[in-house]
Amino acid sequence: MKILVIGSGGREHALVWKLAHSPHVTQMWCAPGNAGIAQERLAKNSSLVECVNVSAADLPKLLAFALEKKIELTVVGPDNPLALGIVDLFQKNNLRIWGPNQKAAQFESSKVFSQNFMEKYGIPTARAGTFSGSAAAKKFAAELNGKCAVKVDGLALGKGVLICANEIEANKAIDEILVAKNFGAAGANIVIQEFLEGVEISLHAICDGKTAKLFPTSQDHKRALDGDKGLNTGGMGTYSPTPFLNDAELKKIGETILSPWLFGCAEEKINFCGILYPGIMLTKSGVKVLEFNARFGDPETQVYLTRLENDLVELLDASVNGALDKIELKWKPEVSVCVVMASSGYPGNYEKGKIIRGLDDAAKLPDVKVFHAGTAKNGNEIVTNGGRVLGVTALGKDLKTAQTAAYAAVEKIYFAGAQFRRDIAAKALKY
Ligand code: AMP
Repeated sequence: MKILVIGSGGREHALVWKLAHSPHVTQMWCAPGNAGIAQERLAKNSSLVECVNVSAADLPKLLAFALEKKIELTVVGPDNPLALGIVDLFQKNNLRIWGPNQKAAQFESSKVFSQNFMEKYGIPTARAGTFSGSAAAKKFAAELNGKCAVKVDGLALGKGVLICANEIEANKAIDEILVAKNFGAAGANIVIQEFLEGVEISLHAICDGKTAKLFPTSQDHKRALDGDKGLNTGGMGTYSPTPFLNDAELKKIGETILSPWLFGCAEEKINFCGILYPGIMLTKSGVKVLEFNARFGDPETQVYLTRLENDLVELLDASVNGALDKIELKWKPEVSVCVVMASSGYPGNYEKGKIIRGLDDAAKLPDVKVFHAGTAKNGNEIVTNGGRVLGVTALGKDLKTAQTAAYAAVEKIYFAGAQFRRDIAAKALKY
């Protein structure tokens, strides 16, 4: 099977790596990919994965490429092409593609849509209101004493959620979005949610339109610095499974969210094929969904796919074909930990082009896989090319072993200004 993967981050490297294990794959491309992706070889015939210099948002060029190469399955990593309707476009051109169509991708591309859907179908979520005018928004924020999350409706590169501790902060956030229009059209509407306290974890479920199969739990570390301090980032590390829910609790929570979600999708004629990734808070008064994403998490993918035992091509095929009910998900019992190494300054401004050393030494360690996120080739060197640079991932028989192995690999790698958190999975070890 000829496969095209769209995207260039750590998530896409993990997808390519796992797909490359499958004996079904005869040729694979990634657009635009990165230096690590370009080093992967297919299990079937040892051929290298080819990176194609086309951006993940350039739908016409991606379509032309897929038609020319007669791609048999396209796998979409990031949210942006999904929100732009890549799935609808490919399907119109009789190409098989894995991911939600534009209507289904609204679970991520519109927070107003998601919030309304959750309320309509009884999915447990935060108390919330949706607004386009600042006066009504401020009145609602005042009812919450200003303790709230103000959320831009549309996609905002992970920067569209402003956490407020009091009314002054809430009014400022509302003015920035609705009056100053700092987020442009994406911020024409907002959702304001009450501020929830508890343990935040990620759920993932693979869906085919009728069936949703839940993955084990994972936990991201969104803040840049140790102890959950500093700015919000795309994610500085993760691990799976978490100790916060046992299997029975996870099953129950999964049903609480996924049963009404599947019912609502059927009612609204939404055919969701892909990954539904709810961000949830375990609060004293039960589970609450903070938001839905409509694709694999990054870096959650790195820990999930190092644990997944199923053939990923067969799994994605079943998702596209509506046959997930026939598949049983199988996971390695080991724990996986991913530590993200980022450029100095990230998530603010950062420089690119720093030479990365020690990748081969890290790769020699047992049970370690270094996924590339923002890397590029410069002559014979691999250099930094993004904010998040690497996702150093290790499997271990327990959390401590996996964490120790991941940090041992991080110690082997060097680039100027490398920053990473030293406490990935620490909360779980204390639990
Ligand atoms: P979201 O993109 O909606 O998941 O929001 C980004 C981050 O903001 C989440 O990962 C949470 O840490 C935080 N957050 C979002 N909504 C809330 C809420 N209602 N209460 C507390 N924290 C929240």
